[in-house]
Amino acid sequence: MESWKVETKCIQDGYRPGNGEPRVVPITQSTTFKYDSTEHVAKLFDLEAPGHFYTRLSNPTVEALENKVASLEGGVGALCTASGQSASMNAILNICESGDHIVSSNSIYGGTFNLFAITLKKMGIEVSFVDPEASEAEIESAFRPNTKALFGETIANPKLNVLDIEKMADIAHKNGVPLIVDNTFATPYLCNPFEFGADIIIHSTTKYIDGHATSVGGIIVDSGNFDWNNGKFPGLVEPDPSYHGLSYTENFKNAAYIVKARVQYIRDIGNCMSPMNAFLTNLGLETLHLRMERHCSNALKVAEYLESSEEVLSVTYPGLKSSPYKSLADKYLPKGTSGVISFRIKGGKERAIEFMDKLKLANIVVHVADIRTAVLHPASSTHRQLTDEQLAEAGIDPDMIRLSVGIENVEDIIADIEQAF
Ligand SMILES: *Cc1c(COP(=O)(O)O)cnc(C)c1O
Repeated sequence: MESWKVETKCIQDGYRPGNGEPRVVPITQSTTFKYDSTEHVAKLFDLEAPGHFYTRLSNPTVEALENKVASLEGGVGALCTASGQSASMNAILNICESGDHIVSSNSIYGGTFNLFAITLKKMGIEVSFVDPEASEAEIESAFRPNTKALFGETIANPKLNVLDIEKMADIAHKNGVPLIVDNTFATPYLCNPFEFGADIIIHSTTKYIDGHATSVGGIIVDSGNFDWNNGKFPGLVEPDPSYHGLSYTENFKNAAYIVKARVQYIRDIGNCMSPMNAFLTNLGLETLHLRMERHCSNALKVAEYLESSEEVLSVTYPGLKSSPYKSLADKYLPKGTSGVISFRIKGGKERAIEFMDKLKLANIVVHVADIRTAVLHPASSTHRQLTDEQLAEAGIDPDMIRLSVGIENVEDIIADIEQAF
């Protein structure tokens, strides 16, 4: 299986039917599973035998998706969650508790920013935000003795800057903590952050992995490479009283992190993915490679058109030759830089809103990264909770429009933009 290329993995990995079994991964719409003996069930509960027993913890349909994404990212295991937000939260809670601290790029998804700045804070976990383009020394100065992770996005939503994953991984490892990368916009087709030193990956599968805007979901993937035995992560090493004193690192070796995320956090918090959503997400994922190729080529053409337009103040797309992120994009995203563009229209916020209302093919939706071209005005929607100062830090101008380029015919997309101008 390992030698398969990404296109083959998208289609074939995660589920292998046996003789006479369904060709397509079945929807196992069952909360629970039947066993012949009490003893067997006891073994399942003690994590001594593999097997599904309750869909909050694991389910065959969900597992097929987990195995496919783990293979695509090159990880030792994965865990599906109810949403991308749940993936970020569980990824952090799995290694942080009240009194701990994390360092995060300040250029992240608005929902993640709120989770980090407001909700985690209420839970006693502090987050310091840093400019990912700052010097190593400057980023390192945000670390404290109680820091447990460094967090960033491969292609940040909505600023669209490309993360220097190797630099961030070096900083994290020097400080004895894992680098957690949100790889949602890049997808495992365009970038595999583990190859550059990231330790944990999360995705909002709601975006390109599903790709058709049917299912909200998330996933956490574990590289298996981080050494949790450095004294900073007792929760992974020391006996867990909720499992009769089992140690995750001792029992599950390099899968300790992802096993704990499942058997402790999904068990206790319950933000699991449903089998139906896993089925739909997996169906979408089967064509990820084809879709991403077209998203990338369409978006580059639209970005070049916008850059040449008199109506536009500036265009942000890391694939453009003029982009300050072009060299990082060439290194981390050689196959393309995804389908999301942002641009500033001449005429300010009013003109931005007027332009958007005139679009016909591109729809106004609070979503990005599916097959249909869509637009969004971040300042008045996804990021309206942020203060002007936070907006500026996240790279959002009032006249900025985010355009998620779909896989329709690119001439139709450009004609729609032209008539709206
Ligand atoms: C949408 C998004 C999330 C949150 O995912 P949900 O599935 O909406 O909870 C997290 N990170 C990024 C980069 C996103 O675009």
